[in-house]
Amino acid sequence: MMVHSVYSDKDVFLRELISNAADACEKLRYEAIAHPGLLANDPDSRILLTLDADGGKLVVEDNGIGMSRDEMIEALGTIARSGTRAFMERIEANKQGEGAQLIGQFGVGFYSCFMVADRVDVISRRAGAEDAWLWSSDGKGGYSVSPVDVSEAPARGTRITLHLMEDAKSYASRWTVERIVKEQSGHVPVPIKIAEKPGEEATQLTDGTALWTKSKNDITAEEYTDFYRGVSGQYDEPALTVHFRAEGRHEYSALAFVPGSQPFDLFDPDRKGRMKLYVKRVFITDEADLLPRYLRFVRGLVDTADLPLNVSREMIQESPILSAIRKGVTNRIITAIEKQAESDHDAFLKIWENFGSLIKEGIYEDFERRAQLLALSRFRTTASADGYRSLADYVKDVKEGQQAIYYLVGGSLEQLKASPQLEGFRARGIEVLLLTDSVDSFWVTNAPEFEGKSFKSITQGSADLAQFKKQDEDKPESSTAPAEVQAFIDFAKEKLADEVSDVRASDRLIESAVCLVASERGYDRQLEKILQGAGR
Ligand code: ADP
Ligand code: MG
Repeated sequence: MMVHSVYSDKDVFLRELISNAADACEKLRYEAIAHPGLLANDPDSRILLTLDADGGKLVVEDNGIGMSRDEMIEALGTIARSGTRAFMERIEANKQGEGAQLIGQFGVGFYSCFMVADRVDVISRRAGAEDAWLWSSDGKGGYSVSPVDVSEAPARGTRITLHLMEDAKSYASRWTVERIVKEQSGHVPVPIKIAEKPGEEATQLTDGTALWTKSKNDITAEEYTDFYRGVSGQYDEPALTVHFRAEGRHEYSALAFVPGSQPFDLFDPDRKGRMKLYVKRVFITDEADLLPRYLRFVRGLVDTADLPLNVSREMIQESPILSAIRKGVTNRIITAIEKQAESDHDAFLKIWENFGSLIKEGIYEDFERRAQLLALSRFRTTASADGYRSLADYVKDVKEGQQAIYYLVGGSLEQLKASPQLEGFRARGIEVLLLTDSVDSFWVTNAPEFEGKSFKSITQGSADLAQFKKQDEDKPESSTAPAEVQAFIDFAKEKLADEVSDVRASDRLIESAVCLVASERGYDRQLEKILQGAGR
């Protein structure tokens, strides 16, 4: 398997297995709301790690939902699930080099156990089922599935036995396992126990208290980071942590993180599960749309007591309580980012560089917060040098009488900076936003104005620059063309009659002789190109 070459830090396999075990316990608690019988006489979730140093084995067992035969084949037999697939594709694309770093950022889920084991046996019994199954593989592509006697299976849930490789035997030592669990899984909401030998009594490693129910003052930065890594699947530090309890009309807790680097699945349309919904500490779903789409980089959860535990997933989508929560959480997250922009500008710029192109989607998707999101946005401009400018900066420095915020959209900053369209603006000291994200063409044609100024493409219509003085000149120039230029214009119009709709003298140009512009009403040039590319 590729996994060998990929990981620089093999420890993460344990976090992946523990997180799957915890997910399985949470799924069971959810199903048990409608079918309490599933819990039988064992209502408390637990994860048990059993060490077997003599046998060179590590066993991870949970009493969660378990897997039927079909579920095993579906879940473990393929790596075609979105997260893993997206990851593997990136690894494939970067056969050398990037792999080791990547693994610092993402997990590959269940398959990561083949970094440390040359054989993995999974015995599982689905809650309520009469049968149990063994899935076994050496991680080289094949696997087998066979029935096992229920006496050899957990009463409910999944037991994963790792036959450790020669150089991975330390994963059967208490010291190593305990260290990893405390480091990486200390705040999994299911208690974790450890037994030093098969059959020996287990002691508790973590208590499974939900971190978000604690008060902020009792939580350390490390605890937040650890929890963030568990909930997000990221291996970096959060760039921003938002933790609050809302009281009053609606009661809920929210714990949300802005990742410190770009998750690899931001543009993967299948990938769900950015914000989890809990009701009274029971995990309900990660498909509740707790945040607007453009905040899909935010990871975390909301826990509320205002919804009934047996709320159906369909009901959730229509629930007015949920839309109130969604509004509250969205506001808090945006406010937190705004505060970051004021208090720690460099930290904010890192967030902006990673997620600015998504936040800008909000400018046309979230009408209510448009002004707020515009104010939060940062831009490269003809006046920004190596930094960024806000629209407030832009508006503060406009030329007298300047009614528009000028912009130029294109593929790259270098390309934009070399554009002849900018010449006239530069000569007059008029700032132009240089927009290079593909989302820019969309919001900018949608955003009506910022502080009373409308957005105007400098490649569209007439530039109206004649009223502004060039920097080395005393008087504004006249925009009417001299007679010999007019004669040339008439000539060009006639020659190009089938190609262009008009030919005009322009204040845009200083050094270049001609440039193409779009008409006043049609699409901006860059949007025109995108639409052509899309077959319009
Ligand atoms: P992910 O957790 O992102 O879905 P994984 O590769 O970690 O991806 O796990 C794949 C799937 O295998 C899970 O979604 C789940 O359906 C199943 N699975 C793994 N471990 C367990 C477990 N301990 N109990 C029940 N199902 C499990
Ligand atoms: Mg997993």
